[in-house]
Amino acid sequence: MKIEELIIEGKDKTVYATDAEDTVLIRFKDLTAAFHSIKKAVLNGKGAVNCQISSLIFRKLEEQGIPTHYIATVGDCEQLCEKVDIIPMQFIVRNVIAGSTARLLNVEPGTKPSNVIYELRYNNAAAGFPSINQHHAVALGIVTYEELDGIKETLRRVNEYLTGLFASAGITLVDFKLEMGRTPGGRIIVADEITPDTCRLCDSRTGEIMDKDRFRYDMGGVCDAYREVLARLEKVKD
Ligand code: UDP
Repeated sequence: MKIEELIIEGKDKTVYATDAEDTVLIRFKDLTAAFHSIKKAVLNGKGAVNCQISSLIFRKLEEQGIPTHYIATVGDCEQLCEKVDIIPMQFIVRNVIAGSTARLLNVEPGTKPSNVIYELRYNNAAAGFPSINQHHAVALGIVTYEELDGIKETLRRVNEYLTGLFASAGITLVDFKLEMGRTPGGRIIVADEITPDTCRLCDSRTGEIMDKDRFRYDMGGVCDAYREVLARLEKVKD
């Protein structure tokens, strides 16, 4: 497959067109950015470990019958994926209270709520990436009520599966963010990445943080923690 023009240069990944109209090549970068890119650094090896983690997880989601954009891993840092239009929203799922939700609800971080918390965020820098509700999303014309119902069911299934997968690896899935893409045929599938950059993960026994919070809060050992996540996921028996 031939790589053609650059489609988009993101913070964590670069997307290229290929000579197959419906396929893109995604290259995971070592660059990491937090707090709306106020804090940035190059972490050697992050692109490779995240590419491997996301590939493993997307393959497993496909095995569960959950459609994703993932086609194949073709290099240390590269995936071939289905070309989709990304819906400009973040779909956030929370199993344990952390970060801003602890402040919003005035609840101790680490509290396990009685229900899973789903949040929508508008991926629009000029608007300041605000939290929105389903009616805002439909009013923006970026998704329909029917599509949101389907996405909610996908989020539920992804969360149910990933919570179990990470638990088998001795890791607690605190929260995560998904992005969804629309295929030319109008199907909505899981896109982007699922990595310690997009999830909060901690060791189930010791509580040690194993995700991007290590970078956000200068805890060090970012890539070592990501590599530990990968090693544990690789050991999980199906
Ligand atoms: N997240 C992400 N990209 C973003 C914003 C959030 O992947 O641009 C992930 C983040 O890593 C965490 C979850 O979504 O796993 C919730 O993050 P949020 O920004 O809501 O942080 P909080 O408000 O909980 O501190």
